[in-house]
Amino acid sequence: MVLGGQTLALCLKNFSKIEQLIGYTFKDKSLLERAFSHKSYSSQSYEVLEFLGDCVINLLMVELLIDKFPAKSESELALIKSFLISSEFLAELAEYLELDNFILVKQKKEEISQSVLADVFEALFGAIYTDSKDIKTVKEIFKNLCETKIISVIEEERYKKDYKTLLQEFSQQKWRERPIYRVVSVEGPEHEKTFFIECSIKGIRAIGIGSSKKRAQQDAAMKVFEAIQKDIQGGD
Ligand code: MN
Repeated sequence: MVLGGQTLALCLKNFSKIEQLIGYTFKDKSLLERAFSHKSYSSQSYEVLEFLGDCVINLLMVELLIDKFPAKSESELALIKSFLISSEFLAELAEYLELDNFILVKQKKEEISQSVLADVFEALFGAIYTDSKDIKTVKEIFKNLCETKIISVIEEERYKKDYKTLLQEFSQQKWRERPIYRVVSVEGPEHEKTFFIECSIKGIRAIGIGSSKKRAQQDAAMKVFEAIQKDIQGGD
């Protein structure tokens, strides 16, 4: 076992490093340990803290968005939010904060997946909330650590780049299903083809149009994604 050599003292030293990094001292250190413990390492693992942290991060992201980008429409905010809470981006934040150095896993460090990184990021905030019982404290820490990064990502409009990935992540998470793409027709002469591709998931469908299959798929994914967001906002 890789962690065989990792003594308790080293773990405790690591904990104080994390506390320094986030600027918060835990009253209950076991919460901090739990937030970083993968189930391969300990039966006291991060799942429940991650579950709570998921909600906390949701709230913090939405609040930050409304605060910093008041001019954006609701549907654009929804699009940005879904990017910000994707495991891809949460894993990026975890790496940005170098949390990967502290994760307690049985397997080798280089095998830590994107989803584990994202989970630990969520669990950490779940742990801070549980320990402090104060959302203001959590918000302060979140702002100090992540705000600059989040704002730059939004300003670069990275969330706009790939609707296909976005829709897939969203539908996997919500329904455990992937959207289906189907070529409906191809029109026009050889060098000026126009592709019509249908995207569908859970009975929601739209046709995307583009000069390549890829573009038509992106267009269709965007339309379906927006239709789902409207549906959610309009109440079930
Ligand atoms: Mn998660």
